Amino acid sequence: MSVHSEIPQPDLSYAMEKARPADYTENGFYGRDIISVRQFNRENLKYIFRVAEEMRSMVERFGSADLLQGKVLANLFYEPSTRTSSSFSAAMQRLGGRVIAINEVVYSSVAKGESLPDTVRTLECYADVIVLRHPEVGAAAIAAHYARKPVINAGDGVGEHPTQALLDLFTIQEELGQIDGLKVAMVGDLKYGRTVHSLTRLLCLYDVDLYFVSPDILRMPAEILEEVKEAGLDYTETSDIHDVIRDVDVLYVTRVQKERFTDLSQYEAVKDCYIVDPELMALAKEKMIVMHPFPRVGEISYAVDDDPRAAYFRQMVNGMYIRMALLAAVLGKA
Ligand code: ASP
Repeated sequence: MSVHSEIPQPDLSYAMEKARPADYTENGFYGRDIISVRQFNRENLKYIFRVAEEMRSMVERFGSADLLQGKVLANLFYEPSTRTSSSFSAAMQRLGGRVIAINEVVYSSVAKGESLPDTVRTLECYADVIVLRHPEVGAAAIAAHYARKPVINAGDGVGEHPTQALLDLFTIQEELGQIDGLKVAMVGDLKYGRTVHSLTRLLCLYDVDLYFVSPDILRMPAEILEEVKEAGLDYTETSDIHDVIRDVDVLYVTRVQKERFTDLSQYEAVKDCYIVDPELMALAKEKMIVMHPFPRVGEISYAVDDDPRAAYFRQMVNGMYIRMALLAAVLGKA
């Protein structure tokens, strides 16, 4: 499963080049990889969100379209996934395309020791776009280096999860009608949670106040805090959710990422650090939303699900529209 050391390692300045804020807006996504949220700016986000809105109304009216008829997506997942893999698959199928699903790499030649570059160079012989989830930071950039077809990063270890961050931001915009001026709290595992890394970077493009709520051992990585500072944003770190619950417009809750811990006793010590329940929600504003990338493993009690402020299932639906927009964009059909 690892990016083998004997494989010639690409010059990763290539990945950084790709990660620069793109000055392209409309169909400038055609043929491009989506590796990092750093490729987005307010202009091209507006464009993707507009296409996602169009996808929503198309699905609501007709269910599907034939925009990507004849196109094939390879969905290559080296780590477990429910929402990302099935929403990419649904997105492709609702646009009339087909999907090669490799969710269990144990049943593919990866189990025989095949390298990531060889796997992606094989899949692009059959598919027009590759969606990749991999446990190692930088794996998507390496795959993109080797592949001629577009690669979309569906999570690279503790690195980034750009498509999740896009759907998160889209959800905030749809639910609250704005992004500028909001107070956004991220809660839980900010060290290993790739979704909060990507979302924080995207929010640096807006005028928001950020609150990072975590146990001491799971604080937001220093380099991301540095980026927040460089963007000129205010942020507050705390371990007590009660410090923020009354003020925030967005409460973005995350799971403690058990699979990233080397010492499981540390995981045990922090795993139940925050539980969002009706009692806590009683302290929150009337107009605010609770989000979660899911899976939840106890951080939000089921009793919160009927609260109209619980936006996490609506957030999942948005994931499909955003991924439809991205697939259409990179395949030149948006
Ligand atoms: N599904 C999200 C991810 O793949 C969040 C999580 O696993 O906790 O990063």
